[in-house]
Amino acid sequence: MAELGNAKSTANIINKYGFSFHKRLGQNFLVDEHVLDKIVDAALIEESDGVIEIGPGIGTMTQRLCEAASKVVAIEIDRELIPILDETLSEYDNVKIINADVMKTDLEKIIREELTGMDVKIVANLPYYITTPIVMSLLESRLPVSAITIMVQKEVAQRMQAQPGGKDYGALSLAVQYYADIYLAANVPPNCFMPRPKVGSSVIRLSIRKSPDVEVADEKLMFALIRAAFNQRRKTLVNAVTNYDGLDYSREDIENALAGLDISEKIRGEALNLQQFAALSNVLT
Ligand code: SAM
Repeated sequence: MAELGNAKSTANIINKYGFSFHKRLGQNFLVDEHVLDKIVDAALIEESDGVIEIGPGIGTMTQRLCEAASKVVAIEIDRELIPILDETLSEYDNVKIINADVMKTDLEKIIREELTGMDVKIVANLPYYITTPIVMSLLESRLPVSAITIMVQKEVAQRMQAQPGGKDYGALSLAVQYYADIYLAANVPPNCFMPRPKVGSSVIRLSIRKSPDVEVADEKLMFALIRAAFNQRRKTLVNAVTNYDGLDYSREDIENALAGLDISEKIRGEALNLQQFAALSNVLT
């Protein structure tokens, strides 16, 4: 039975192994059973599912995931945590621990070889120093997973959910909303972690869309337009795109495309929604 998930058992196991936290690896371990239950509930795990956990730490959430899923693959970068995981997960025969950097791991191969035929879900209390690169690479690689349930910094969750016009709206909002449907499961205060982070956190579930909500002829072009728009977000879209090194359009091209879509040539990129970026890229393809 899952026995971790509170400050006492966490302190006991880290003291037993003389483990010291590495701030640079974003090591803030969950010590609140209520939050752990919320994450596992939000992940909507079925008994027949396969789960990939990024950064199991001492195995607190992993224990619960092993009880909920058919098989769990847990990828942990810090080799000092591996003997601890061997102990805390010893009673589960449905877990595989991999000592590796998730950014250098072929997750598709893991799914193919370890989680064959299962509906695969990713669950993680993410290290905050690389949240955006991890999320973007999970989404862009179009892994065969149905949902990604993650603890992220509260501000990052707000950016993912943001709509046009606000200061939080940006390339991350558009990318996440293109690939997934977002559900905010909980806001989590710093006192639920050991050690306490300086920032608030949120649990979100990204349910991966089978096909995007918008039709895009050239995804690369749409995301290049989005990057250009937010690279110089205070400029008009026409200026931002014509100044952007990765794109080769004249002012006239962009002005004509905007006119054809009935959008003002004075508009800033931060005012465009996903449908409008898709339509603009389709006209420019
Ligand atoms: N899941 C545990 C929990 O909820 O208590 C620990 C979460 S802690 C916020 C993040 C974990 O990710 C740490 O165990 C850290 O060592 C690990 N980690 C950091 N960078 C990583 C990477 N690039 N690949 C895999 N794991 C990583």
